[in-house]
Amino acid sequence: MKFCSNCGQQNAKSAKFCLRCGNPFEGHKPQQTNSVNNSDNDIKISDRDLLTNALTTYEDDYSKFKKKWTIVICISILFYLFGSLVAYLVYTLHFKPKFEKQLVERYKKENHIS
Ligand SMILES: [Zn+2]
Repeated sequence: MKFCSNCGQQNAKSAKFCLRCGNPFEGHKPQQTNSVNNSDNDIKISDRDLLTNALTTYEDDYSKFKKKWTIVICISILFYLFGSLVAYLVYTLHFKPKFEKQLVERYKKENHIS
């Protein structure tokens, strides 16, 4: 963590800009408050820099979020595989022999085999 010398906001160690005021941490030093036309106060932080700052600041939360979704995706895949296996077993153990038996009965009936 490092603190913005301009506004005191806590920022991630790797942050390039202050999240609150946009004060750059590298390059030129922040100007003091005297100047009214201080253009540094109007620095627009790009969405990408904001995202980078936010992701490094909330790195733990972000990795928890990704971990949670990894688990959700893995469970979905397991359910999909399990569902396929159940469908396969129901087919081979129940519906297939039942239908085969029906076909045999029909064949016997149509060909007068007892
Ligand atoms: Zn700041």
